[in-house]
Amino acid sequence: METQVDVIVLGAGLTGLSTAYHLNQASVKFAVLDCKADVGGVIATSSKNGFVFELGPNTGVVGSPEIAELLEALHPDCEVEYGNDKVSKRFILYKGKWQALPGGLWGGITTPLFTWKDKFRILGEPFRKKGTNPEETLADLVKRRMGNSFLDYAIDPFILGVYAGDPAYLIPKYALPKLYNLEQNYGSFIKGAIKKAKIPKTDREKKATGKIFTVKGGLGALTKTLYSKIGADKFLLGVSGIHVKPVETGFEVSLTNKDGDTVTLNAKKVISTLPAFELPKILGFVDEHLLNQVSQVFHPQVVEIAVGFNQWKGVPIDGFGGLIPFKEKREIMGVMYMSSLFENRAPEGGALITVFVGGARRQDLPQRSDEELKALVAKEFKELMGVPDFKPDLFEIIRHKHAIPQYGKESKARFEAVEKIQTQFPGLLIGGNLRNGIGMSDRVKQGTELAHEIIAVLK
Ligand SMILES: Cc1cc2nc3c(=O)[nH]c(=O)nc-3n(C[C@H](O)[C@H](O)[C@H](O)COP(=O)(O)OP(=O)(O)OC[C@H]3O[C@@H](n4cnc5c(N)ncnc54)[C@H](O)[C@@H]3O)c2cc1C
Repeated sequence: METQVDVIVLGAGLTGLSTAYHLNQASVKFAVLDCKADVGGVIATSSKNGFVFELGPNTGVVGSPEIAELLEALHPDCEVEYGNDKVSKRFILYKGKWQALPGGLWGGITTPLFTWKDKFRILGEPFRKKGTNPEETLADLVKRRMGNSFLDYAIDPFILGVYAGDPAYLIPKYALPKLYNLEQNYGSFIKGAIKKAKIPKTDREKKATGKIFTVKGGLGALTKTLYSKIGADKFLLGVSGIHVKPVETGFEVSLTNKDGDTVTLNAKKVISTLPAFELPKILGFVDEHLLNQVSQVFHPQVVEIAVGFNQWKGVPIDGFGGLIPFKEKREIMGVMYMSSLFENRAPEGGALITVFVGGARRQDLPQRSDEELKALVAKEFKELMGVPDFKPDLFEIIRHKHAIPQYGKESKARFEAVEKIQTQFPGLLIGGNLRNGIGMSDRVKQGTELAHEIIAVLK
């Protein structure tokens, strides 16, 4: 690998790979550095005993034109697989029983999930005053506009599913900006959703279909395809001790390669896509106070467990999965029915279910041993999934010490600090999921935009 490049990309997760893919398309000279031996970051897929299971995210959403275009560009080397028609069938645990999440108006009226008081209250949502506190928590926003039962049995489980988070911690302005802007721009969620649906979309905007997707063979195939398209010669993997230093010509990046040799690279630009908590080690030249504002983000621990059965004899699992409101006081956050959604995930007649444990409000649970976690899942499967005798044919525990960054009150200071650092050190761009959203679609969007920002300057 050349030691003088135009751009160094730190991190080969989905953000870094998306950035690198576009730099490569524009024939920019660049290098991607990662401490792991494999690319993909939190995205990886494994297989065992006839089950194909995810070690990180289970599904993506085609939520931006950028991800749609990336999937198009990678076809046919990487074949997208959309969730089948069962994706719209989602369950919420209510008083210990699974209830279908209502889709239409009638379902909304008859569901036991929400109280009659709140069902009537929702009729008044379009006429309620809009909030004035940009730092209001999601819990307060939903209580104010929709009522407690919507918070407990719609938003709370949704937030568990997306962030493994706590609505009383997350700030919608940063964590769910689309929702926040509905209220701010249109005065109401309902009015805003109706008005927005009427705004004609460009052909490019229409690419963001909102469909649930994976790729054939699992999401690991997506990042592996990106790696092979970009070219192995652009990557330095398994490196340690990365230090970035501004120099007259741009930046000097020193590191120890996988063979233990010290390597120094020079680049005009550096794009970081590393997790927030890694930055103090890497960007030692930045003012400590600013760096602390960027790096101190709450990343709750999450344990993901792939549970497989050669023969499924439990409750019907013909849907996306089930989410468990915190109020239900269970020890799992939710279950995803992967073998119902996608092909070839479990042996014929069997089931692959992903279980999530921990999250922002149950940081005690990930501390448990593997045996304790197995006992915990066995108890929940007995009581909730109709499996009295828990003898799975696959039980794989994946521990995420720093799962998903929670965009809480500190986010404003973080975003401002990023801007200040980038202004102080032109040529250094700080991306990654510490800003611009946590979903895969957000990551591809940001990676694409970072690449184009750099390409525009270099050309
Ligand atoms: C358990 C879990 C489930 C999720 N589920 C979903 C889902 O269903 N749908 C969805 O859209 N999103 C989901 N997400 C979120 C989404 O997967 C992530 O936000 C996204 O993949 C992050 O990509 P990234 O490239 O920004 O970061 P990462 O994937 O974290 O990549 C960062 C890279 O930086 C490297 N790195 C870190 N420190 C250093 C260092 N010091 N030196 C060198 N390299 C370093 C890492 O090895 C890694 O490869 C989930 C996340 C988790 C953890």
